[in-house]
Amino acid sequence: MSDCLFCKIIAGEIPSIKVYEDEHTFAFMDIAPLTKGHTLLIPKTHCKDLFEMSEDVARNLYAAAPKVANAIKAAFNPAGMNTINNNGAEAGQTVFHYHLHLVPRYDEKDGLVVNWNGRSQEFPPD
Ligand code: 5GP
Repeated sequence: MSDCLFCKIIAGEIPSIKVYEDEHTFAFMDIAPLTKGHTLLIPKTHCKDLFEMSEDVARNLYAAAPKVANAIKAAFNPAGMNTINNNGAEAGQTVFHYHLHLVPRYDEKDGLVVNWNGRSQEFPPD
């Protein structure tokens, strides 16, 4: 899609820090990471959200997910990882090309709470 930010990233028209690429998928570092190593995994075929995603696109994307997760784990050594996907503005989606957030977690005090809807908030001060 010509006016889609993430399609432009896939095409190399907008720079990104690439983490992984295959025939069907592309992964790159989030520009505003929630934690160190926060990565976005996206399909090369444009689809707005999960509701528009075909089974083939889903199969290919989720086939790549463990590879990307393990690459992040090898690079940053997190203790855990959240995978988050927002669908629709009301659910917190701000870029309308499907993306799976892979958010490495370091410990329960890594300064981040990821809520069920993927929004983050700082831990309240002690
Ligand atoms: P959403 O809120 O739609 O679930 O997530 C969109 C994500 O895209 C956000 O985490 C945001 O930081 C990231 N993002 C937005 N614009 C860019 C960009 O130009 N480059 C990169 N690498 N990430 C972006």
